[in-house]
Amino acid sequence: MTQTDLITRRERLLGPAYRLFYDEPAHFVRGEGVWLYDAAGDAYLDVYNNVASLGHCHPRIALAITRQVETLNTHTRYLHETILDCAETLLATLPDHIDRVMFTCSGSEANDLAVRIAEAYTGRTGIIVTELAYHGVTQAVSQMSPSLGEGVVRGPHIFTVPSPLRFSSETRAAGFAQAMDDVIARMTKAGFPPALFICDTLFSSDGVISDPAGFLKPAVERVQAAGGLFVADEVQAGFGRTGEAMWGFQRHGLSPDLVSMGKPMGNGHPVAGIAMRAELIEEFGKKSRYFNTFGGNPVSCAAALAVLNVIAEDELMVNVRQVGAYLTDGLRTLGDESKAVGEVRGAGLFFGVDIVTDGQPDGDRARRIVNHLRQHKVLISATGQQGNVLKIRPPLVFRPEHADRLMAALSRAVSHP
Ligand code: PMP
Repeated sequence: MTQTDLITRRERLLGPAYRLFYDEPAHFVRGEGVWLYDAAGDAYLDVYNNVASLGHCHPRIALAITRQVETLNTHTRYLHETILDCAETLLATLPDHIDRVMFTCSGSEANDLAVRIAEAYTGRTGIIVTELAYHGVTQAVSQMSPSLGEGVVRGPHIFTVPSPLRFSSETRAAGFAQAMDDVIARMTKAGFPPALFICDTLFSSDGVISDPAGFLKPAVERVQAAGGLFVADEVQAGFGRTGEAMWGFQRHGLSPDLVSMGKPMGNGHPVAGIAMRAELIEEFGKKSRYFNTFGGNPVSCAAALAVLNVIAEDELMVNVRQVGAYLTDGLRTLGDESKAVGEVRGAGLFFGVDIVTDGQPDGDRARRIVNHLRQHKVLISATGQQGNVLKIRPPLVFRPEHADRLMAALSRAVSHP
């Protein structure tokens, strides 16, 4: 079957809401480490996939899944040790006050549950998100995801704060806190005092905003002082991605009430979760029960436990810091050399690189660069308001030689008209 046949068949069977990457869509048949392979056996460097964060088809994760799936897979209404081992290992990576965790199958479900818990605890429904946030696909959280566009109708209880990117690095902490004060006043006046503020602690859909570390703290403190809860959405930033800490909120010195996680949690196996302060789930549990058919099953928990162990035992955060620093230097140098490259932002192995023409955001040019790289077998994507921010997010096992290959391809792509 040709590529065109596959695309036609896909459109006919799956419909138009699924979007493909790249002008010439890619078709892979196998993955290993930082590489994806097409049917012809050509290797593509995966610089985008923060799900297979330990590398594609990691043998220890595959083994943990295989062993458990061959033994038992059932739900959380029977006793089982693995969910508890996983919970203990996970909670040990979080601050002491975050001492309960519940498992779901996706980041969307984790955020959806966070909303329900926050509503039950605060007795409020007001929600604050950033102007280009993405928090998932359910009815509740798609409304909290303005990056999905105008097509998603937003309830009157959902309020947005400007993206932190609207403030210069020097004024970001104070400006974002002031914006938070303003929105809290507005929503309270409208009868929706805040139940929660949720943000991706690396702001990936807002254009990747990492610095200065700590800039989020005053704004979050404003929400908590107003009686709202802070949900750290760690679906993107969690599991060692920043290299500095296991969780993105730790770079900002924050004390979240709830922490949602997913994507890299099972290295590709669907497992996600929401961790929180005990009193929050006590309150929710009094009023409601929670059962998620697949969430927290022994196979998913075996995968998540193996991921946590590999991150610790292979000291992957050390690699993230080292290779992240190397890549930062490379990207900054490219920025000095090329007029098409503006600001380079990011932490660890997560970068946003502004693509500009005459200093102005240029989404078309970013798209051409992303496609040029794909033609040269390097996979990245773009994000941000104008789609002009290259999103560079390699697996945590990325090595300097992979960074060299990316940089060589990227410098060719940015100099291409
Ligand atoms: N939050 C953030 C910050 C995300 O990036 C995503 C997924 N892109 C989600 C939540 C939703 O996760 P999932 O796709 O697993 O439902």
